[in-house]
Amino acid sequence: MAAPMNAPARIPNPTTDWQQQQRAARLSTGELLAGLGLSAADFPHGVIAAPDFPLSVPPHFRSLIRAGDPHDPLLLQVLARGEEALPQPGRLTDPLEEADYREAPGLLRKYRSRALLIASGACAIHCRYCFRRHYDYGEAMLTRSREAEALAAIAADPGIEEVILSGGDPLSLPDERLAALVMSLEGIAHLTTLRLHSRTLTTIPDRVTPALLALLSATRMQVVIVVHTNHANEISDAVAAALGRLRQAGVTLLNQSVLLAGVNAAAPVLAAHARRLFAAGVLPYYVHLTDPVAGAAHFDVDEARARAIEAELRGVLPGYLVPRFVREVPGRDSKTPLSAL
Ligand code: SF4
Repeated sequence: MAAPMNAPARIPNPTTDWQQQQRAARLSTGELLAGLGLSAADFPHGVIAAPDFPLSVPPHFRSLIRAGDPHDPLLLQVLARGEEALPQPGRLTDPLEEADYREAPGLLRKYRSRALLIASGACAIHCRYCFRRHYDYGEAMLTRSREAEALAAIAADPGIEEVILSGGDPLSLPDERLAALVMSLEGIAHLTTLRLHSRTLTTIPDRVTPALLALLSATRMQVVIVVHTNHANEISDAVAAALGRLRQAGVTLLNQSVLLAGVNAAAPVLAAHARRLFAAGVLPYYVHLTDPVAGAAHFDVDEARARAIEAELRGVLPGYLVPRFVREVPGRDSKTPLSAL
């Protein structure tokens, strides 16, 4: 049985060291549930005790989950529920066919003016809907020894204006490693913009270290960080303060979400999220429809429902707060708006 609802989870967070918090994120399904006063019986299909894609939930994110609430929108993003093991026909391990876009080790080219570096295979948080949850990072990740080939490919193509650091999560890298990578990119004259996609910043706000701020404010490149949050409850005061420090360092902040059944698939929920983002200085950018990745079908929201949510959002939010609803279709040279599907 669930414990009384709405009490915040009591998660000790005795350190401001973000790397320690990243290490403390690993825990078992049983430990996560016990800390919230829940059990497998609180979920219709139970839970998976030892999933192949292991649980990773940083203490700060855990502290934002309501104890005793099996429907908590943050919990549902990180808990391995029994639905993952149900038959899911048509689901894929590489739903975006990314293996086809590998131009050099660690380098993906999907779009002409942008290049994506898989800077790290690690993430602070493991999101159950992740389209790279089966990704073979061992083969595809940028490492120091493989870096020269990827950087040479970028340097050889003056059409590339922007490098995107992705992963995994590029901010799971230590500041020194990140600084070395940014310095190498700075040496490529035709690069004007550095973009990072990260969920570490909002799940471990202490990741916004003085060294990171110094690095991002010193580069000659325009810096854009796309944070990944799916629900207003993720943007705690500590997260908002960390985002504020990034803005003061001159970073442009955008957010992308995934439309997730049971988490945020309702216009009032997304509207509250957009307002909370804006209050923290972040503009809503994309809402992605889920990719057909194996093990995550229970998060799917059909296109008709997504269209209705998007239309409703337009009615309640100013245009600049309405994110673009998109799906990534392998082979297309940009994300596909829902209206064009
Ligand atoms: S942080 Fe991003 S890459 Fe990492 S598990 Fe979550 S969705 Fe996937």
